[in-house]
Amino acid sequence: MKNNSPIAVTSRSFSRHPVLRAELLERYSNVRFNDKDLSLKGEELIEFARGRRKLITALERVDETFLAALPELEVISKYGVGTDMLDKEAMIRHGIRLGWTGGVNKRSVTELVIAFAISLLRHVPHANQEVREGIWKNRKGKQISGRIFGIIGCGNIGKDLIPILRVFGCQVLAYDIIAFPEFYGAYQVKSVGLDDLLKHSDIVTLHVPLDNSTRNMLTAEKLSLMKPDSFLINTARGGLVDEAALKDMLMNGRLAGAGFDVFSTEPPQDLELLRLPNFLATPHIGGSSEEAILAMGRAAITGLDKNNIPSKDYPPAG
Ligand code: NAD
Repeated sequence: MKNNSPIAVTSRSFSRHPVLRAELLERYSNVRFNDKDLSLKGEELIEFARGRRKLITALERVDETFLAALPELEVISKYGVGTDMLDKEAMIRHGIRLGWTGGVNKRSVTELVIAFAISLLRHVPHANQEVREGIWKNRKGKQISGRIFGIIGCGNIGKDLIPILRVFGCQVLAYDIIAFPEFYGAYQVKSVGLDDLLKHSDIVTLHVPLDNSTRNMLTAEKLSLMKPDSFLINTARGGLVDEAALKDMLMNGRLAGAGFDVFSTEPPQDLELLRLPNFLATPHIGGSSEEAILAMGRAAITGLDKNNIPSKDYPPAG
């Protein structure tokens, strides 16, 4: 028997996926999909969700205004693992349950980090741009093998990345608010403070959530601790790094390069940064492998039925 509870899917990526649509429609008969391929926000988002009891959302902002306008709403099921766009206090006040599963897109993000690291170390974007412009110039780079990686945030993605880095013979430094002695022991990871990690790594990669404890964690001052020949990768969230300070360092030879999938404002507006030859940008595609999309979509479908009121332990911090 199909459930006829009214559902809305605000996520465009879910809505345009034929397998996810079919699997959701096998369980629920009354579904509104975001078929206009619009990124919904404000009044438009409220109108789209009006009268629905359960939502599948992706990066849409769920705040007090949104929840106050939708008294019928009971469940938000998250497509993707980040929860920084959800006002959890407001959800608790309105008794809204959250469907959430951690780690569903970790391999997709891990592989993008490896792609960024190798591309930056071997100057692939710059070399490619030059070839397109008719410049045939040999560019020396460094191998990923044997480099020192600094992992900021050792949760699902950090832990997925580390064994792969170890295959390359990389040394790994990790910084997290939680201690993982068994995992660190198994992969010879050295647990260090943030400053030491920044000072000693060849490649620093961010894998923390965006919240009050991490917002702007890489200030100009912290970035200045990094070695001039090192690289910074951010596939976690915009808002973790001072992008203006980063641009300055990239322009002045104070940092070798950076690869960002996420920005404080998306799409990013600073063309000067985006056009730097030592800056590699992608449009928030970390979790967008076909495999991760299916896994995130299936987790979101499950989350419509299996969910909890958010609390300090839910979703868990890694
Ligand atoms: P996770 O919750 O499994 O791991 C996060 C880790 O960060 C945890 O171990 C936690 O203890 C640690 N942490 C939290 N606050 C910290 C702090 N102040 N200082 C140091 N460590 C801290 O999350 P995950 O699945 O590994 O994902 C990490 C982040 O990556 C997500 O929150 C999400 O925002 C982002 N993400 C982006 C994409 C993308 O498309 N680019 C895809 C997936 C995830």
